[in-house]
Amino acid sequence: MDPRDFSDNRKNYDLLKERALSCGLAFFGVAATAQIPSEYLLIETDLIKQFPYAISAGYRLSKAVLQTIDTAPSLLYSMHYRRVNTLLDHTALMLATVIQQSGFEALPIPASQVVDWTAEKGTVSHRHVAFQAGLGWIGRNNLLVNPNCGSQLRLVSILTDFPLEVNQPSIQEDCGDCLDCVRACPVEAIKRERKDFDFAACSAKLNEFSRIRGIGHKICGVCVKACWGQASLRRHLSQE
Ligand code: SF4
Ligand code: SF4
Repeated sequence: MDPRDFSDNRKNYDLLKERALSCGLAFFGVAATAQIPSEYLLIETDLIKQFPYAISAGYRLSKAVLQTIDTAPSLLYSMHYRRVNTLLDHTALMLATVIQQSGFEALPIPASQVVDWTAEKGTVSHRHVAFQAGLGWIGRNNLLVNPNCGSQLRLVSILTDFPLEVNQPSIQEDCGDCLDCVRACPVEAIKRERKDFDFAACSAKLNEFSRIRGIGHKICGVCVKACWGQASLRRHLSQE
């Protein structure tokens, strides 16, 4: 076989996944870009059409760092958050390099960059790419919930035309009867029904947190700490 033959989607998938995991990431999946609703892709349609695949890769946050969060983000969490974003961006660049050296195109999307300040959206919604890539479901806390680590991860995305195997979203899973993040949120922004999530209350609290000395950006971490995959565990236990 020609060493530069990239027609095997599974092999290409395994190549990128292996590179992502070797950089310290724990999660990797691929979505069909066409399956991601347009409201989660703030990119010109012509550009989106060039990239039929959306890679989602994630880093598992440190449990020990999350333990330093009580009712507000800690200084350690703030720095961890920044460093994880840097690692995710570096990994996305490295994967883009592999793709380009293979003769294809890649558009890495920064892990944390707002481009629509009114709606507070990034170029793509990493959580919705991850959902379509089969890495979990969107929880009551409005974040991705992975069956193994809950919302204790951060994500980055890469759009590409590199031929890849595509994962399927796990539409069978949800938060079930878990309400842990509902109880934890300091402003009661999280409701039983996800559609009732109070974005304004959450955003106002994050603005308040950003003014804490040493925090400096809109983070919280309280509902991230509260969500460690217990919905999946409870479901598992109830089936035994
Ligand atoms: S980020 Fe903080 S304020 Fe926003 S929903 Fe989660 S716990 Fe509540
Ligand atoms: S803490 Fe429970 S209810 Fe909240 S997002 Fe996680 S699994 Fe869902």
